[in-house]
Amino acid sequence: MSRRIRSGTLSIHRTGRHNITNKALRFVVIGSGMAGILAGMRLREAGYDKVTILEKTSAVGGTWRENRYPGLYCDVPAHAYTYSFAPNPNWSSYLAPGPEIRRYFEDVARRYGLYDIIRFGEEIAHCSFDNARWTVVSKTGAKYEADVVVAATGVLHHPRMPDIAGLGTFAGPCFHSARWPDGIQLDGKRVGIIGNGSTGVQLVSALAGHAHRVTHFQRSPQWIMPVENRPYTDEERRAFRADPALVEAIRFDKTYLGNVQRFTEAISDPASPQMAMIEAICQEHLEKSIADPTLRERLRPTYRAACKRLVFSPDYFKMVQRPDVEVVTMRIRQIEPQGVRTIDGVAYPLDVLILATGFHADRFMRPIGIYGRGGVRLEDVWAKRPHAYLAISMPEFPNLFMLNGPGGPVGNFSLIDIAERQWGYISQLLALIDRGECRAICPSHETLAAYEKRRIIAARRTIFGSGCSSWYLDAEGVPNTWPWSYDAFAEQMAKPDLTAFERIA
Ligand code: NAP
Repeated sequence: MSRRIRSGTLSIHRTGRHNITNKALRFVVIGSGMAGILAGMRLREAGYDKVTILEKTSAVGGTWRENRYPGLYCDVPAHAYTYSFAPNPNWSSYLAPGPEIRRYFEDVARRYGLYDIIRFGEEIAHCSFDNARWTVVSKTGAKYEADVVVAATGVLHHPRMPDIAGLGTFAGPCFHSARWPDGIQLDGKRVGIIGNGSTGVQLVSALAGHAHRVTHFQRSPQWIMPVENRPYTDEERRAFRADPALVEAIRFDKTYLGNVQRFTEAISDPASPQMAMIEAICQEHLEKSIADPTLRERLRPTYRAACKRLVFSPDYFKMVQRPDVEVVTMRIRQIEPQGVRTIDGVAYPLDVLILATGFHADRFMRPIGIYGRGGVRLEDVWAKRPHAYLAISMPEFPNLFMLNGPGGPVGNFSLIDIAERQWGYISQLLALIDRGECRAICPSHETLAAYEKRRIIAARRTIFGSGCSSWYLDAEGVPNTWPWSYDAFAEQMAKPDLTAFERIA
C-alpha cells in the first residue's frame, strides 16, 4: 500500500508495506547507511524478526560516516533529506551540515531499535544463492543464511585516487577527502585541493580565511548553481516541534519541488525550456559574480550546465576572489615533496594536499563476490557495465534487491525519497514470497535486455551524455543513470509489472 501526496505535479511517496504472514523469512541487509537503515526499519515495522544488518565498519551512516571534511553539507534541503517516517524539527539550517546528518541517521537507527540487529565489523566476502536461499559469508568467517538479501551498499564509497606522477612523494599530509585524518589542523597552513566537484568546492568555501592560503587545482571548470542557506532560529525550531505542518510545508515547498521537477525534466530533455532556464541561471551567476574577466573565462565550462553533476554553492565564486585563494587552471605535471608543479613549470609550495578527486562510482556492492543461480558471477554479468532491471534486481540473482543500484535515479534531489520509493516496489515483490506464491523472484533475461536497450538509448540523449566527463558515465561513455523523468520513476515504482519476473517455486 502506498500513500501519495501531490504537490504541484510532483508526487511524493510515503510508505510501502504489506501484511506479513510468514515471519520465518530471513533477511540480510548489507550496509547501515541511509538505505540500509531504511530497509531494516521497514522490515522490522512489517513484523519480520529475522532481520540482520551487516556493516563493515563500526558505525552507521554510510556516506555521512565516511565523509568528515570541513564544510560538508547536503545540498538538498534538510527537511526533504529526511525519511518520511522520521521528520526532524531540529535541523539547524535549511541545508544541514554533514555531522548533523550523520547524527540524524544514528538517532533513527537507535529509535527504531536497529542497533540490536546490526552486526558491526562484518565486511562481506561473498554471497551465494543455492536451493532458493542465500548464504552470506563475512571476512570474519561468520556465515548468515537468508531468504532475501538487500544490498544497501551505496554508490560513492570507493575513493578514486588521481593518477598523477609523484603522488606518493609529497612530504606533508596528503589524503582523499573521504579519508579525513583525525585531528588534522589546517589553520594557517598552505592547503592545496585537487578537484572541483561538489566536494572540492565545499572544501574551498570552508577553508578560505582559515588556511594561510588555499590553492584550488581545477582540471575542468564547473557550472555553479547558486543556492541559499540559512540557519533556523531557536524560535523556528520550537515552532517546527509544535506544529509538524510547518516542517511539511518546507518538505513539500512548491518552489523546491518545482525546481526538482524542472531539473528532472531538463535532464531527460536537454532541448527543453527547463534546461535553458538552468543554463541561464548558471551563466548569469558566473557573469555577475566574477569581476575579473580573465578569471571568469578560466572558470567558464565549455560543456553544458548539468552535464557533470551540478555543483551547488552559496559562496564559491566569492571565495575564489579572495586574495588568499587561488584557482590554478594549468594542468598538473607532478606532485613533489614540497608541493604541486604544473606543466608550465610553476611550483606551488604546500603544507597539506587534499585529493577531492571523487569515487569509483561503478563498484556498487563489489568487491563482494556475488554468485547467483548456477554459480553465475556478478563480476561477469557486470563486465561491460553494472546494470539492473529498474536499478533494483537482476536475472539469475533471485531475491537480491538493491537500493540505489546501477542505472538508478541520480540528480540533485533526495536519494532518501528515491530509496523509499524503491522500497515500496521491493515490498510488493516480498509480499509474493511472504504469501508463499513463490520462494524466490527475479526479472527474466528478456525483461532486463529490453529494459537496458531502452534505457541506454534514452540515457545517451540526456544532458549527462551531452559531451563532458563525469562519474555518471560508464566505461563506454553511456550515462549509468535513470534517463526519464522523476514522475516516470514514481510511476514505475508504484506497482511492479509482475509479468516481467520469473517466479521460482
Ligand atoms: P567528483 O564530482 O567526481 O569530482 C572529482 C574532481 O576531481 C573533478 O573536479 C575532477 O576533474 C577532479 N580530478 C579527478 N582526477 C583528477 C586528476 N588526476 N587531476 C586533476 N583533477 C582530477 O567528486 P566529488 O566532488 O567528491 O563529488 C562526487 C559526488 O558526491 C557529487 O557529484 C555528488 O553527487 C556527491 N556529493 C554531494 C554533496 C552534496 O552536497 N549533496 C557533497 C559532496 C559530494 P574533472 O572534472 O576534470 O574530471
